[in-house]
Amino acid sequence: MPTPQGFFRSLSSLRGQLTLWFGGLSLLTLLSAGIYVGKIATQELATFGGLSLYSSARSAADLLATNLRERDTEIRLLRQSPFFMRGDLQGADMRRALQLRQQASREYAWIGVTDPQGRVLQATGGLLLGMDVSQRPWFQAARNGPHMGDVHEALLLAKLMPQQRTDEPARFIDFAAPILDDQGRLRGVLGAHVHWSRITQTVDSVVSQSSTQAKVEVLIADRAGNILYPYQQIGRLQLPARTGGLAQFETLRWNDGQDYLTSVVRVQAETSTDLGWQIVLRQPLAAALQPIETLRNRLLLLGLLMALVFAAIAYRFATRISRPIEQLVEAVRHVERRDAAPVYPAGDAVQEIGQLSRSIQSMTETLLEHEHALETLNATLEQQVAERTEALSQANQELERLATIDALTGLNNRRRFDSRLLESQQLLKRSGRGFGLILIDADHFKQINDSHGHQAGDEVLRQLGRLLGQCTRITDFVARYGGEEFVVLLPDLQSEAEGLAVAEKIRRAVADTRFPVVDHITVSLGLSCAHATDAAATEVLARADKALYTAKQLGRNRVVTL
Ligand code: GH3
Ligand code: MG
Ligand code: MG
Repeated sequence: MPTPQGFFRSLSSLRGQLTLWFGGLSLLTLLSAGIYVGKIATQELATFGGLSLYSSARSAADLLATNLRERDTEIRLLRQSPFFMRGDLQGADMRRALQLRQQASREYAWIGVTDPQGRVLQATGGLLLGMDVSQRPWFQAARNGPHMGDVHEALLLAKLMPQQRTDEPARFIDFAAPILDDQGRLRGVLGAHVHWSRITQTVDSVVSQSSTQAKVEVLIADRAGNILYPYQQIGRLQLPARTGGLAQFETLRWNDGQDYLTSVVRVQAETSTDLGWQIVLRQPLAAALQPIETLRNRLLLLGLLMALVFAAIAYRFATRISRPIEQLVEAVRHVERRDAAPVYPAGDAVQEIGQLSRSIQSMTETLLEHEHALETLNATLEQQVAERTEALSQANQELERLATIDALTGLNNRRRFDSRLLESQQLLKRSGRGFGLILIDADHFKQINDSHGHQAGDEVLRQLGRLLGQCTRITDFVARYGGEEFVVLLPDLQSEAEGLAVAEKIRRAVADTRFPVVDHITVSLGLSCAHATDAAATEVLARADKALYTAKQLGRNRVVTL
């Protein structure tokens, strides 16, 4: 399982981005196409559904009209037959004639004839025989001409009749017409009660069970919009107010709070009485548009599937591009870390990547060659620098030595002595550690040079230097002061006597030494101890010089202290 960080990183990769974009775009395209198609299809379907409702409503209205017209015509024709105009209305033949008529059309519940006062003379099944029906609306209307009455319940007749349906009371519509003799005088009234259920059962058949007509209801309403059929809706449903000026169909909100695709058609029965009935077909809008919902869901599913397919294709495509790039990155990393030989992608899937790979490969190889050459050069240079630095350091050491060493005797030179004198002076000032100076000058050295030559003089000077080293301690500081003059600095000198002892030791050592060529020489020495009160180092030097001068004055080969 990839971690969330890995997932988001892979989203920001080329293949993640391409996959997202392709998938998203295809989803967007299909969704917008789906919405557009859905919108158009909704309109088309609503129109189609509405027209189909209207056509069914017309069929239902025609069926109803035909049924009513047939009954109306039958009654009107029957009462004009000679038997009715001249025969015995009360006789058994009349009863048989009525019976036959009833059997011919199962719609009739009852057919009967009355006398002009409203007493039933003869009737099918002998029902209501002898009863007074003068107060019934059909009788009263039919005395003046053919009549068709609104649907009604007839309790008395219903009780006498076998039950037609159990879920609703028996209801009837009345057809009646006057029976006239040849002179046009009223002989009686022919009346018929027709089963309302037989009239209405045909109208339901116009609605097909197809998906476009799902949940379609067929209603019959009177002129005022009151529901006559089906029985369950009587008093509960009311036709919406606008149905008067309805087009072929409309979407209307009914009093049950729902929107219905509604079509209303007037029943043109052309019967003796125009009752103004209307056939109403209504279908819940949601049911009418159900196929759209299904279509939309299918489109959505298709969109998702296509998005997945596109995303998968994009993923494969992007992988073809990104894999060589990733390999290239990996190869460059190897070059960077120098940990393995880099493997460059062939990049034959995408031409440009192949070119890039080859360019990077050749560039890297060139760079590596250059780097190698530079490394070699660098190593040589470092070697050279080390060698030169060593030589320079040696030269510096030599220079340092030359700068502080007297070339002839190998002793410290005057410069070195000056700095040592300054140090000793500072040490005296700071920590009270005293020191002494002995200035030593070869006596009559000019004559030595003159008598034996400079070479011999130089050799004498060298030997003098060695003697001074032998006569002093390692901590004492011996230097050639200049020409045939030497100086010894005695650090931590406890007393002048100590200094005198060293000076005397030197003087005697020189005097006792046999020098080659020149044999004997002597030296004069001036000793002085540094004083804490000396303002500068030059003061002790000046006193030593003065003492030396005095030693020369006093006849040489001696030590004088000041
Ligand atoms: P004094 O006893 O009064 O010191 O007499 P002196 O002859 O030693 O003194 P002076 O100053 O007259 O002469 C010093 C001589 O030392 C002069 C010079 O030629 C010699 N001299 C100085 N430096 C060197 C040197 O490096 N080598 C040699 N061979 N002679 C030197
Ligand atoms: Mg001198
Ligand atoms: Mg001298």
